[in-house]
Amino acid sequence: MSKEQRKRLEEICVQPAMLPPLPAAPLVPPICPSAVYACADPQQAAALLAGELPGYVYSRDGHPNADLLADKCRRLHAAQRAAVHASGMAALAAVAVAQLQQGDEVLLSQQLYGRTVQLFAGELARLGIAARLVDTADPPQVQAALGPRTRMLLVETIANPRLRVADIAVLADLVHARGARLVVDNTFASPLVCRPMELGADLVVESLTKIISGHSDVMLGLTCGSDATWTRMPVVQSAFGAVPSPFDCWLALRGLGTLGLRIQRACANAQAAAEMLARHARVEGVDYPGLPEHPDHALARRQFAGQFGFMVTMHLAGGGAAAERFIAGARRILFCPSLGDLSTTLSHPASTSHRLLSAEERAALGISEGTIRLSIGIEPTEAVLEALAEGLEAVG
Ligand SMILES: *Cc1c(COP(=O)(O)O)cnc(C)c1O
Repeated sequence: MSKEQRKRLEEICVQPAMLPPLPAAPLVPPICPSAVYACADPQQAAALLAGELPGYVYSRDGHPNADLLADKCRRLHAAQRAAVHASGMAALAAVAVAQLQQGDEVLLSQQLYGRTVQLFAGELARLGIAARLVDTADPPQVQAALGPRTRMLLVETIANPRLRVADIAVLADLVHARGARLVVDNTFASPLVCRPMELGADLVVESLTKIISGHSDVMLGLTCGSDATWTRMPVVQSAFGAVPSPFDCWLALRGLGTLGLRIQRACANAQAAAEMLARHARVEGVDYPGLPEHPDHALARRQFAGQFGFMVTMHLAGGGAAAERFIAGARRILFCPSLGDLSTTLSHPASTSHRLLSAEERAALGISEGTIRLSIGIEPTEAVLEALAEGLEAVG
């Protein structure tokens, strides 16, 4: 081989392999990991960057796999706008940065995901954005807490781990009357159980890491909003840079394909599990919105169109020792402090999500050492009930 030929080969190695237009489109979208796109000329580049022309230039500003996923989620939530973020926390941070500024105040539901409280009451407070905790199950308390500087109320549709349900329509009316916005973290519900925008929420956040992806192999987050709430979102998304990977978006879109089937099975399994646990002598209490004795059962019936979610929390008689025996004995239920997997998993809030609270603070939230949070999977119902029974037998 001549030196000339070798140079030519090296050049071929470097040349971009670009897909030609295809007469028949692939049914499954390709993964587009390209960080950058080749522009035809300066006019086209300027038009693409200005958003006057649909398309992409630099994938921190957007890429096809994120847009395919965001668009499907946008339709599921009947929202005008949607974006996918690097994680659920990145989605919450993007909402905060896009909506708030120094001197503003945020009201937080008392029962929020722990990292969300850290983000708002810790990190954002450090930057001059005040946060106050309120009991969102008590609308007069929320109304009294709304002040002239309150910009938003943040609440979870189904809250961790007592599974209290937020009355989104009532809260939306309260905050709108004071010119503030309602942000709803809908992770525990998914759009197939609840669509907060329909009920008056201004922005919806979800961790797509959980039931939407559904296979515990992706970290992603979602924000949905309206044209009115979206002004800063694209620039915040790109400037703060917590953008989603094309491969993760591709996996999540594939997972989303079976969301309907998975939610149906997981919710039915959760109902059966909650009913079985509620009858068991070793179980002091069960939190599940589908049980008539749950404090928000009537609200959940109205708001959720017949499904009550896939999360079930039980409180074992016998405290921490009983919890340890259950966790060791329930061999088919893995101790995974997350949720929304195909399989039934469990978490122990006192040693994971709520470990930083004092015992008194946990007690005030109704969490004891004997509290176990279950994320019910899509196994055959009998298998879920047997797996739980194995753990309960070990409790003795
Ligand atoms: C997991 C979770 C988050 C954070 O999502 P990540 O994808 O883990 O960043 C936020 N809110 C709730 C309710 C969650 O369960």
